[in-house]
Amino acid sequence: MATVSTMETFRKYIDAFNATDNPKYLAQFLYEMTNIALKECSALNTIEANKHVYRDNVLAAIKQLANVIDGPKTVDAGSGGGDESGDPYYTEQPWFTDEVPDLGFKDIIGLEEVKDAFRVNVLAPMHPKLVDIYRKFRGNQVGMQILLYGPPGTGKTHIAKCLAGALGCKIAVVQTSEVLAGIVGVAEKRMRDIFKQAEEIDGNCIIFFDEIDSLCSSRDSLDSRNTKTILTTMLTCMDGFMKKTKPRQMRIVIAATNLPWKLDPALKRGGRFETQIYIPVPNKAGVRKFVEKGVAGIPRDERVTVDWLTEKLIGFSGADIKAILRQIADKPLRREIGNVLDEKIGKPLGEKITVNDCAEVLKSYINPITPKMEMQFEAYRRGISYEELLGIFAEGQNKQKKQ
Ligand code: ADP
Repeated sequence: MATVSTMETFRKYIDAFNATDNPKYLAQFLYEMTNIALKECSALNTIEANKHVYRDNVLAAIKQLANVIDGPKTVDAGSGGGDESGDPYYTEQPWFTDEVPDLGFKDIIGLEEVKDAFRVNVLAPMHPKLVDIYRKFRGNQVGMQILLYGPPGTGKTHIAKCLAGALGCKIAVVQTSEVLAGIVGVAEKRMRDIFKQAEEIDGNCIIFFDEIDSLCSSRDSLDSRNTKTILTTMLTCMDGFMKKTKPRQMRIVIAATNLPWKLDPALKRGGRFETQIYIPVPNKAGVRKFVEKGVAGIPRDERVTVDWLTEKLIGFSGADIKAILRQIADKPLRREIGNVLDEKIGKPLGEKITVNDCAEVLKSYINPITPKMEMQFEAYRRGISYEELLGIFAEGQNKQKKQ
């Protein structure tokens, strides 16, 4: 989202403003910040999605700017808007869906082990016949904090929504970078709002934090001090939230990341996201299911079989397979529309997906999941570094050569 980086830049100017005494630079930083605030104001008129976040950001930015103009060098970059004393610029946004997602485990393609883990740990403890047995052995600690990690587009968010559908509960899908957007102080307040709203829910509920790695920026980054505070806020809120689970209630916090090796160890400590589940790209059987579903009922050349397409799509994520199949089906769709609209051709129908359509799409579709990325996940799963894994492979190859 443009605002995230814009606000980051804004914050950097505030830091720079605070750090200098040179009047020339003070004026320059003030000028840059004014421009950013004006740009955000005009964006507010056009952006519908995440309007709450935009509004918070714009108002917070203007407030900071007003502070700067009011009394140079009085801006406190560590105590921005969103304070507990009733900041007039802060608006609490609703984080939970109004409805239970109309999804269930049947909507998750493949990933049988993942579904099994959820059946055993989440659905079974809620079963009327099993609930007392689980209580006997696990006490009230039947909630779950799970870390889902894996390449982008493999269905981590989708799984969380399906789980909410299966449990019949509301879910908050939180883009962690969205929480961070804005000035310092606002992010902590947003984080507390999320857990406060979750606690107000009487029955089961799920909080899903996507891109949780954005809470763990590297130590040398300018924002590391701020993200650390927000991470602590999150962990404190989460510990309290889980402890207050009522009998026969299921509270689940899921975090997802494409970069598990970047996570702060505090997140993975026992009692927090100790359960980690790898969400890989679909295997061949999984790809086949995506293909079967994706091309069902769409006219195809006889050479474009499900098996043929499956072979071509191995290595892509579920999200990418869906996108590729959509693009492929668009080709005959466009031709047929063209035929119908072209007076000379008349209305010849019967266009089909051809081998050439598939080749054209596949040629231009860049798979975001690189072999290096897959190796990084493999290394993480083995608990070693990427470099160590490369060393192991090189050693294996050397041995083979010698034999
Ligand atoms: P991630 O959170 O891992 O980046 P998403 O959950 O956002 O991925 O996946 C994007 C879309 O791809 C989903 O909305 C869903 O339509 C599709 N998708 C990905 N994996 C699966 C899967 N295993 N089963 C069904 N749909 C999937």
